[in-house]
Amino acid sequence: MDNNHDAGQDSQKILEEFKKICESFGIKLTYQRLEIYRILLEAKDHPSAEDIFSRVQKKVPTISLDTVYRALATFEKFGLVRKFYSLDEKARFDPNVFPHFHLVCIKCHKITDFQWPEVEKKSLPSVAREWGEIKERYLELRGVCKDCLKK
Ligand SMILES: [Zn+2]
Ligand SMILES: [Zn+2]
Repeated sequence: MDNNHDAGQDSQKILEEFKKICESFGIKLTYQRLEIYRILLEAKDHPSAEDIFSRVQKKVPTISLDTVYRALATFEKFGLVRKFYSLDEKARFDPNVFPHFHLVCIKCHKITDFQWPEVEKKSLPSVAREWGEIKERYLELRGVCKDCLKK
């Protein structure tokens, strides 16, 4: 969970990688789209499209919510971001497309990444193996975060 080291440096690297991937897929990377991705990358809270919109708006006042929706849909289509649903009806977006799990606070709805390699590597129970083909493992642990416990 300790992914705050050199966050600035890391996100610069990821951003460069992102540009390269977009180029290779032929995704037109406008200034607005780059800002959308940058905001998402810096966000640690797994924001919704509306959250991203209001944050990008501070930098790019002319941007529309529709542009944000379309950019996120494109990024998702090419596997550059992950879309998921948790406690809210609204979809949340995750720039971290590598295997990881989520800790979800049922009070403030904050979503925090965590790794659990033992679970990722564990062999599947027979029910899951016989059910079909598992493509991805995703686990969400729900509870009350430290900040909310203090209140
Ligand atoms: Zn909380
Ligand atoms: Zn995540």
